[in-house]
Amino acid sequence: MQSIDLAGVGMTSQRTRERLIERLSEQGITNQSVLETIRITPRHIFLDEALSHRAYEDTALPIGFSQTLSQPYVVALMTQLLLANGTPRKVLEIGTGSGYQTVVLAQLVDQVYTVERIRPLLDLAKTRFRRLGMTGVVAEHYDGSFGLREHAPYDGIITTAAPKVIPTELLKQLATNGSLVIPVGDGRHQDLRVLRRQGDTEEFEEEIIAKVKFVPLLGGLAR
Ligand code: SAH
Repeated sequence: MQSIDLAGVGMTSQRTRERLIERLSEQGITNQSVLETIRITPRHIFLDEALSHRAYEDTALPIGFSQTLSQPYVVALMTQLLLANGTPRKVLEIGTGSGYQTVVLAQLVDQVYTVERIRPLLDLAKTRFRRLGMTGVVAEHYDGSFGLREHAPYDGIITTAAPKVIPTELLKQLATNGSLVIPVGDGRHQDLRVLRRQGDTEEFEEEIIAKVKFVPLLGGLAR
């Protein structure tokens, strides 16, 4: 768990931020730590300057390379789901993208591993982690379709890109009672799902949460 070093980051549009938090709580985000974390995380530094004035709108925004920074509501919802059965200690995120979801997570859990297949996105995210003083994040250029076995098991895994079917390797890397929060489906129809390992068994309880739209989970690395 870490706090952000806000010096030099700039606190733009405080009112717009407060409005965003009100909106998220009206939409069913009840976890106060999640709301507070989103309130203090400077989303504008995860965007290109030309788009930063839109950072506190509840909308997904482009980050280049045909990828998007997820809508704040979706980030809040996925984080809340990941924390639903007690705060996980160690989390794996697949799809670092801008690094925004990573920084939200890093303030709530002890250790975040995050992997990204597009090198320039990963490098940019890493400069943001440094700028915010996030030392507890491990970010790697890696195809997360198969998880990140060397640091498994994880109390929670969150995937911010959608596979057509759930990769079984991700389920295997869940710790006892661990949960996987993942959008599943094709380009048009995706469901946000939560799978919870039942104790230390190979049984998983599955819950379908909402219709969502994420970029696809792709195989292989990109420069
Ligand atoms: N969490 C990000 C969302 C970025 S969009 C944010 O807050 O900004 C999803 C990201 O998943 C994209 O950057 C995409 O390149 C990445 N991705 C897609 N397939 C992947 C894979 N197999 N392994 C790692 N990253 C992947």
